[in-house]
Amino acid sequence: MYTVHLKLTYECDLSCRHCYLECGPGGRSMSDETIDKVFRHLPESTFNLLFSGGEVTSAKKTFTYALDAYKDHVVRLNTGMPFLTIHTNGYWTQRFWSSLWVLKKLRDAGTAQIYSTGDTCYHHEQGVDPAMQHLSGNRPLSTAYRLIWPNRFFRAMFPGPIFLGGGSGEGQDVLPLGRARNLPEEEVADIFGCKLLDWRDDPSGTRRVTVDPDGMVYLCCWMKHPPIGNAADEPIEDMVERSLEDDVIKALMDDGVAGAAKTLGVFDQDKKDEYRDKACLMCEDLFGGIAGLENP
Ligand code: SF4
Ligand code: SF4
Repeated sequence: MYTVHLKLTYECDLSCRHCYLECGPGGRSMSDETIDKVFRHLPESTFNLLFSGGEVTSAKKTFTYALDAYKDHVVRLNTGMPFLTIHTNGYWTQRFWSSLWVLKKLRDAGTAQIYSTGDTCYHHEQGVDPAMQHLSGNRPLSTAYRLIWPNRFFRAMFPGPIFLGGGSGEGQDVLPLGRARNLPEEEVADIFGCKLLDWRDDPSGTRRVTVDPDGMVYLCCWMKHPPIGNAADEPIEDMVERSLEDDVIKALMDDGVAGAAKTLGVFDQDKKDEYRDKACLMCEDLFGGIAGLENP
């Protein structure tokens, strides 16, 4: 079974200082042509599809096109309609008309859930948390991970529920990648290992892939390892099977970034602890450097 994380856009109405993708106004979005091709190449066993960004609701044309593509394409998948999740910063809830527009679009597309990261300390600073509270009918939001039901009026548009995820602790899950590299040290996670270590052996059997706005496919949502192919050009399942035979990807899965560095012949003994404790930063350095070589 597959979970497919579609990064539809790097456009965003906010420009958070913790954004690992450096999203903001004017960020690029997936073209309509790429959306069509990516949907045609989704694995048959996709059971969870995520629309993510950037902020998908601020790239209105792309968002609308992708929701239409979802309705047109996914019924052929043998899982029936996959579970469609929308990742959003929830900023649209601050305005009545944008709330109506977004909730109606999602309801008409058959969205299963909205997952908002509006509860994190950073988004709270931007006024998103109070907006979510408004959407919930001003019921108090008091726990770190909570669920809200749209108030009576909005529930006619979207029956809910809406998950507010993340918790609000300083530094929770924030990796110093992209713009977040500029955050003070105490605000970012200080130890982070490679997620690919359990990718292949996930006990639920779920395979997770991330597709960027150009259609490039990655096995990790940080998108630091080299892409395994382009979902506009070939079925995602084919490229995943091929990547599992790739020596570098296999080394990442078996032994993390240290394994990949050894396979590539660039392992640095002096950084052996960093390969384990700051895996994604080392991954960015490793593959950023490799990408710059003429014949990696
Ligand atoms: S809302 Fe999300 S995508 Fe937008 S800038 Fe903030 S972290 Fe990045
Ligand atoms: S180390 Fe690289 S492949 Fe592993 S989770 Fe981090 S960015 Fe992804």
